[in-house]
Amino acid sequence: MTNVTHLECSLTGERYDAGQVHNLSRAGKPLLVRYDLAAAKRTLTRDSLAQRAPGMWKWRELLPHDGEPVSLGEPETPIVVLRKTGGATLLVKDEGRLPTGSFKARGMAVAVSMAKKLGARHLIAPSAGNAGGALAAYAARAGLPCTVLMPEDTPAVNQREAAFHGARVFLVDGLINHCGAIVKEAVQRFGWFDLSTMKEPYRLEGKKTIGLEIAEQLGWRVPDVILCPTGGGVGLIGIRKGLAELQDLGWIGPKLPRLVAVQAAGCAPVVRAFERGEAETEPWADARTAAFGLTVPAPLGGFLVLRGLRETGGTAIAITDEDLLAAQRQAARLEGTWVCPEGAACFAAAARLRAAGWLSEGDEVVVLSTGAGLKYPETVPADLPLLEKGGALPAGG
Ligand SMILES: *Cc1c(COP(=O)(O)O)cnc(C)c1O
Repeated sequence: MTNVTHLECSLTGERYDAGQVHNLSRAGKPLLVRYDLAAAKRTLTRDSLAQRAPGMWKWRELLPHDGEPVSLGEPETPIVVLRKTGGATLLVKDEGRLPTGSFKARGMAVAVSMAKKLGARHLIAPSAGNAGGALAAYAARAGLPCTVLMPEDTPAVNQREAAFHGARVFLVDGLINHCGAIVKEAVQRFGWFDLSTMKEPYRLEGKKTIGLEIAEQLGWRVPDVILCPTGGGVGLIGIRKGLAELQDLGWIGPKLPRLVAVQAAGCAPVVRAFERGEAETEPWADARTAAFGLTVPAPLGGFLVLRGLRETGGTAIAITDEDLLAAQRQAARLEGTWVCPEGAACFAAAARLRAAGWLSEGDEVVVLSTGAGLKYPETVPADLPLLEKGGALPAGG
């Protein structure tokens, strides 16, 4: 038995029945999952949680799926303390430990579980980075066929990962929005199920567990600030939703962390709209950054990200590729922590917000590091003296 009562349009509040597959609302906006929290509270207690195996599925009363989920053994990700990066102490939630090396696993685990349960027969999504591999892995686990459309310049690792898991991978001579248009056509022609970012309700529910985990890991309280690398915004919107549900349960107080959307200077539609005081993002032209996960020029959930920033007294900040790659290398060398460039953008953002006085000395700052640096071999500078040749140690070695 799930505690889901209904789905709700994030713009109009219109209600939808949860018992069937859905993509967007009639208004063309994302659907949000709503729960009977009073019912959830009957079995979800801090004590019952403490007895369960760690990981996202222990939050089952706040998830849409009952029964056996499609799982690859998702761990609870650790919070690693960094002291030499970001201008002060940072608490880094290291999502690179998840299956397929990024936090896309959380979303796809729930979305694929629900798609299978609700009878979807073929899964499809566009991806310019980690979503394709995560979808392909969970589809393989579920025994469902899967198709992924990727821009031709998507890193080889991501292309091969999806194909290796058995997905059909089409490389498109164009950007992610071109891939999205082809997905739409396939959905109409073949009746396949579309798992594009924010176009189905359940990837958000998986990502919500990041917020739940952070509150539990800090001893049922929230930090002062959470920095989120923001592309489609699922991470940030999910954390906000998870914390709101914990508030409704009465498990955390009225104070929420100030949420910060960190984007790349080469694709920063949320930052631009935030600075202009607008409620919705405008498409970003010529999007380009080494932080592939942030290459989302027209996020469908942009208005929800902006709402989350303003409601929590947060902000939005754009980081150049030069600065985010420098922060990534610094953390690898000084802290033994090789994060993805998207996560490293948050290290650089923390340093800038600290220097500008937006972060104060005593602020407790959590950074979401969304993936493992090892998945981005192309961000290792080609001129780095990596290896020395020779069959013996040089004299004085
Ligand atoms: C997809 C992705 C992001 C962006 O996440 P959203 O939830 O879409 O904002 C950030 N980092 C990495 C590594 C990603 O794969």
